[in-house]
Amino acid sequence: MFDQHTGSKKGVGGSSPGCPLHGGSETSASMLSPCIPHTDIHVPTEFRQCLEDSGLKQSLAAVLLVLSLGGAPDVRQPASKAEPPLRTKEVSLLDIVHRPSDPFQQFPESFPLQVAVFWTNPGPDPESPLALVHCLKEMGIPFFVTRVLGQALRHRLVILYPSVDSHTFTQPQADQLTTFVRQGGYIFAQNVFWGGMQSLFGFRSFAASRGRYHIAFSTTTDPVMKYLNRPEEREVSLGSDRFPEVTWSNGYVADPGAEVLAQFDDGTAALLTNSIGKGRVYLLGLSLLDVVLRSQNDRDYEAQRHYVNAFEPGADVWLLILRAWYENYGEDWVRLATIPGGQRSALLLSHDVDWENSFAPCLDFARIERANQASSTLFIQTKYVDDANSQRFFFEPNLETLRQLKSGGSTIGSHSIIHSRGFNKFALGSGHEGYPSYQPRGLGFDTASGATVFGEVRVSKELLDGEIPGQDTIFFRAGHLRVPQSLPEALERSGYQFDSSFTDDDVLSNFPFALPRNFGFEEDSKIYEFPVTIEDEESPGFAKRVPQALEVILANAENGAVSVVLIHSNESHEKGAAEQHLLRQLPADIIKTDMVTFATFWRARDHLQWRMAATSMPAQVVLHAKSDDSVTGITFEFQRRIATVTGGATLSQDGHHVVLPKLEAGRSVSLGIHYLH
Ligand SMILES: [Zn+2]
Repeated sequence: MFDQHTGSKKGVGGSSPGCPLHGGSETSASMLSPCIPHTDIHVPTEFRQCLEDSGLKQSLAAVLLVLSLGGAPDVRQPASKAEPPLRTKEVSLLDIVHRPSDPFQQFPESFPLQVAVFWTNPGPDPESPLALVHCLKEMGIPFFVTRVLGQALRHRLVILYPSVDSHTFTQPQADQLTTFVRQGGYIFAQNVFWGGMQSLFGFRSFAASRGRYHIAFSTTTDPVMKYLNRPEEREVSLGSDRFPEVTWSNGYVADPGAEVLAQFDDGTAALLTNSIGKGRVYLLGLSLLDVVLRSQNDRDYEAQRHYVNAFEPGADVWLLILRAWYENYGEDWVRLATIPGGQRSALLLSHDVDWENSFAPCLDFARIERANQASSTLFIQTKYVDDANSQRFFFEPNLETLRQLKSGGSTIGSHSIIHSRGFNKFALGSGHEGYPSYQPRGLGFDTASGATVFGEVRVSKELLDGEIPGQDTIFFRAGHLRVPQSLPEALERSGYQFDSSFTDDDVLSNFPFALPRNFGFEEDSKIYEFPVTIEDEESPGFAKRVPQALEVILANAENGAVSVVLIHSNESHEKGAAEQHLLRQLPADIIKTDMVTFATFWRARDHLQWRMAATSMPAQVVLHAKSDDSVTGITFEFQRRIATVTGGATLSQDGHHVVLPKLEAGRSVSLGIHYLH
């Protein structure tokens, strides 16, 4: 578990002097407050190990510093005569624009197929429905949010969120809910505490605790378990047992008539289902805020079973349960697919370029990818200063190599300037950092001077945009995957759109997601996160792990999730051959693409507004869609088999997927869908 992942992280980094992959746990430890009250007692093993070997690294760093500074007149000058100053393009400092905070306004009712989210606690100190919004939006399930029970109960599927206690409903409302289920309605609820609803939800008692660490799903034929087929999906963790307490859970004791679908380690029910009349309810003894949003924020109690390179669906299982619930009980359901073009999954390729000799090999990778109908995104360290970690290398001919790659179709992101292992502890900065006055220096293992989060993010963009024609840097990846709490703000205010600084395993999520502001629980930033699934440096090296990588990619493909591959470009011979080997083994329904292209699709998908409308003919419906951004490949999945579709859309061979024509920004399309009888 944790020691294993620490061990693996200690083992990486040998081959590329610039960038051992790292990250994760220390970040969460440093941002625990206020929701996790363990900051003072929690020193993760990894962090201790960093402290232990920092002495060695620091003496090594001192030697390097002497070597690099010896004889140099003044490293603060941007360049010698032979080396002209770098060109920059101005990066504006943007204001944070808050979305409407009222979820009723943000997610209005527009068609009968929508799941009704009945928000149970909009009082003076409400819990935002953000965690549930993440689940439903990532799964492409249509929904609206309401406080009007009658409006909710006009829909077949209802979610009660975030909890039900004795103040939530009146007795007549409780009777209304029971009648709704009896007549064929379906309710999904979490944390029902009210005795007045015991018989509807099928429990006798419950006990709250912070001492439950594991959940095992039952062997059952219940349809909500449809996507949980792999061993990693049959059991999940709520936190490492190194913590005396983890997240709150409510263990239920089920009525004899109810079925337990998942159990905590103390034998109480974590998920149960109860049928009443023609309908059915599901009850979860956990909060999606804790098992999904907290994990995505990397503020979980180290619930991950690995750090990288393994399949870890610990947060995804809850999204997949909701998807299966919707697909089983929705009537003629329609879902916005996660992957463009009617495909099953996507492999997103990236290279980190963080060493002086890492530029030229990118040309080999680009050639290999072109030959295999793939492309990649290059994350460039814009190192223009000499410091304890390395000499500068953001100059010619490396810049010319980047221009060549860009004009050949590679996409480019930022990999910071000094690539510091202490990035997660940097201050935000002023937002007015610029080249050449911004002069950060790595001093030792994880220390730096003159460096800020804004500086690393903004000045690297200034330089990439200035030196590479046509470049607009919108994707960021932190050095060593170290994430400061201010990263979403620094990225958003500097005009970025996407980040890839976490690992899938660490955030227990294999779907892209919106990064919440300040890694909180209230509001999303405009930045989307694409965590790293597979990297190249963990022992015994990527070339020897291709079958293992392929298995993780296939596990994600089964769920419609994506896989992000990171290969450092410090050499292209062995790693290039391994990449080609992987690409050639991929099933044809897994797209091979670069991160910018897919992320741009994902952002447009997340912003898409859509609704279904009935017609006077029972076998004909109309799909209305409007996109904020220009986008191709938007795909909808239909429960019913389709005979024909109009409006320039394409129907898949299986008759269940419709691929929309290219959508222009701000324009609406309407497609006539004719079901097969
Ligand atoms: Zn790196």
